[in-house]
Amino acid sequence: MPWCEECSKFWTPTSMGADGSCPSCGRSIATAAAEPKAPWHFKLMVGAVCVYLGWRVVQLVGWLV
Ligand SMILES: [Zn+2]
Repeated sequence: MPWCEECSKFWTPTSMGADGSCPSCGRSIATAAAEPKAPWHFKLMVGAVCVYLGWRVVQLVGWLV
């Protein structure tokens, strides 16, 4: 949740300005509000984990049958 030090107040992302500024004092608080953009290697890692887990499920099913 974005926090404005100037106003000592939390703002919901929807109540902020379109540019991520504080609706009360206009201070830019977007850095705290912005969704952390997942780097490509994070997505790659998540994909690899999905593939790995899928493979483990296949192995488990093959072991059970
Ligand atoms: Zn403010």
